[in-house]
Amino acid sequence: MEIRTRFAPSPTGYMHIGNLRTALYEYLIAKSQGGKFILRIEDTDQGRLVEGATDVIYKTLEMTGLHHDEGPDIGGEYGPYIQSQRMGMYMDYALELVEKGEAYYCFCTKERLESLKESNAEGAAFAKYDRHCLGLSKEEVQAKLDAGEPFVIRQKMPDTGTTTFTDVVYGEISVDNTELDDQILMKADGFPTYNFANVVDDHLMHITHVVRGSEYLSSTPKYNLLYKAFGWEPPVYVHLPAVMRDAHHKLSKRHGDKSFEDLVNEGYVVEAIVNYIALLGWSPADNTEIFSLKELEKKFDIAGLSKSPSIFDIKKLTWMNGEYLKAMDFDRFYALAEPKLKAALADTNLDLKKIAALLQKRLETLNDIPALVAFFKELPTYDTELYTHKKMKTNDEIALSSLQAALPVLEGLSDWSEGAIHDALMALVGELGIKNGQLLWPVRTALSGEATSPGGAMELADILGKEEALRRIRTGIELLTK
Ligand code: GLU
Repeated sequence: MEIRTRFAPSPTGYMHIGNLRTALYEYLIAKSQGGKFILRIEDTDQGRLVEGATDVIYKTLEMTGLHHDEGPDIGGEYGPYIQSQRMGMYMDYALELVEKGEAYYCFCTKERLESLKESNAEGAAFAKYDRHCLGLSKEEVQAKLDAGEPFVIRQKMPDTGTTTFTDVVYGEISVDNTELDDQILMKADGFPTYNFANVVDDHLMHITHVVRGSEYLSSTPKYNLLYKAFGWEPPVYVHLPAVMRDAHHKLSKRHGDKSFEDLVNEGYVVEAIVNYIALLGWSPADNTEIFSLKELEKKFDIAGLSKSPSIFDIKKLTWMNGEYLKAMDFDRFYALAEPKLKAALADTNLDLKKIAALLQKRLETLNDIPALVAFFKELPTYDTELYTHKKMKTNDEIALSSLQAALPVLEGLSDWSEGAIHDALMALVGELGIKNGQLLWPVRTALSGEATSPGGAMELADILGKEEALRRIRTGIELLTK
């Protein structure tokens, strides 16, 4: 049997980390077994619709490489793939259940239901409809329908027994059927409830594996009873524990936690985000950590899913992002870094490629770039304490004499290339009989005005150009003679 999974997001306008993880696992479950990954947009909660929200979903799947095989934008055999466009097909299914005695019409008014709630206020939480309309005869129902009374259709839960299903992550789950409410399947406006629509849709789309957040776990017995009532094969259920901010709180956009778009805007590389998210609830048998989507497709095994909630650790993602930046080929890195470099170093003639080459091994996120390169544009004001460095065996005095010695040597250089600068400075080290660091550290410090910098003395001198490099060395000398 072909494995078919579906990602069924409700368009909210951004992609939650938890939702992206669901999509990723659905994709991987399908792709690791040669199956199909389907996109279905669940937009029936019209009150929550956000302009452009569906595009965010397409864009995220495109960027992350989670390409769907069927969906609203590409079609497929089992469309439409937008829930709001499927509205016409549910009533017939609900009526089929009424026919079978698995569902019934309910004409109870809002007021009556409210009063039920109130009369229950002292007992356990109000959970169940009292089946007032279950006893209506066929004729009574017909008379009410003929009179145009508004109605809903409710699922009739079994009076006895238990419903048991096995979730891939949470194991066997059983509930007493008497605990289950006769939930509404069709609303008074003629539209299905979410709980009904998703079962019908999953069946009609031949979904074999339903992957979703654990908040749906408690509804699953009702879904299973629907499958049973129709005589349909239920899917394999894979419920995922929440992604947490810390031990007690779920990740929540409303409370300031980042969405996928936020992370991208903060300079995280898409592949690193996907890689990191793969590990939020799944681990490979061999405990490796870095893998591309292609590798994940091969490696992914449903057995590696865990039911303990995982904490979204931005530090770990940041580390992983740095690993991706380091490992990437230079052209790709440059393409990512260039816009940030251009913005940070506008109105300069600096060689951005040379600067990018210095940065690649030192960055954790692309957003580190502006702060790291600002000194190229303008020498910051700095404290001469920076010239004192234990390991380099320098202090103010040594720094001053080194800069004073370096200045005429560099002034005399006609070839201002990194190689020539290197040779000249190394010759000077030999001549002065000092350690490399005692010359190079002061020069680097004078050129950057920073305690650390991407690139050493020769690289910085080369990039800054002769005139600017000499100006900065003179500034250093001045500061040190004060
Ligand atoms: N539209 C639902 C959500 O975004 C999907 C639930 C499901 O996958 O069944 O939470």
